[in-house]
Amino acid sequence: MASFQARVPYVRPLRYLARPSQARVPSRSDPPVDRGKPMFSDERSRRVVFVSHCILNSNTRADGHAGVAGVNRRVLELLMQLNIGVAQMPCPELMCLGLDRGDVKGGERPVLLENTRIRAGMKSNRSAEVMDAMIAQVVAQVEQYVEHGFSVLGIIGINRSPSCGVDTTTVGNEEVKGEGVFIERLRTSLEAKGFYLNLAGTKVSQIDEALRSIRAMVEKSEATYAKAAGRALSSEFRDA
Ligand code: SF4
Repeated sequence: MASFQARVPYVRPLRYLARPSQARVPSRSDPPVDRGKPMFSDERSRRVVFVSHCILNSNTRADGHAGVAGVNRRVLELLMQLNIGVAQMPCPELMCLGLDRGDVKGGERPVLLENTRIRAGMKSNRSAEVMDAMIAQVVAQVEQYVEHGFSVLGIIGINRSPSCGVDTTTVGNEEVKGEGVFIERLRTSLEAKGFYLNLAGTKVSQIDEALRSIRAMVEKSEATYAKAAGRALSSEFRDA
C-alpha cells in the first residue's frame, strides 16, 4: 500500500494576489483609481539583521562562557542607531544539548576544551536534525522579508563558538579560522535558496573590532540593496 505523506500546500495569502485585470479601458473622465496604501509604508525601516541568540540573551551561554550580564549592549546600540530590526535566531546548543550542554561539570574545563566537547555533541545526527528544523524557520523568515522587499543586512554570529562562529571557531582544543557547525549549515541552506547574506563575527573581549565588522557588513549590504533598487542610501547610512 502506498505510504501516506502529509503535505502542507503553500497557499498564498489573499492580500498578495494580483488584482484582476480590468476589462474596460479607463477614460480621462473616470475618478482616480484607489490603489490602496502600499504595504509596509508605515514607520518601519524595512531593514533587518539576524543575530545569534546570546547577543540578546547571554543566559543561554555555556557555563562559564558568558561575557555580559544579559544583552550585548554595544551591538544593540549600534543596530538601534542605524534603525535596523533585530531578529533573534534560536540558540542551537541550548536546543540540541541543553543549558548544561550535557555535562554539569562543563564549566570547570578551560573554554577551548569545553568548546571541543560541545562541537562533538553538535556533530551528532540528532543535533543535525534539531538544527535543520531551526534553520528551516530562519530561512523561511529571510524568504518572507526578501519577498516583500525588505533589506536583510546580514547575520551576526559569535566568534570562537563551535556552533555560531563566523570568522573563527573551536576545533581540536584550538581557536581556528572557520565557521561553527550551525552557521555553516545555515549559510549552506540559505545559499541553496539563493540567499547570499553577508556575515559578521563578534567577541565580547574584542568589542571594538566586532562593531567595526558589523558596521562594514551592514553598510556593504545596504549599498547593494540600494544599488539593486536604484535608490539612494538611507539617511542613517549616509550620515554614518
Ligand atoms: S554562540 Fe550560539 S550556541 Fe553559543 S550560546 Fe550563543 S547562540 Fe547559543
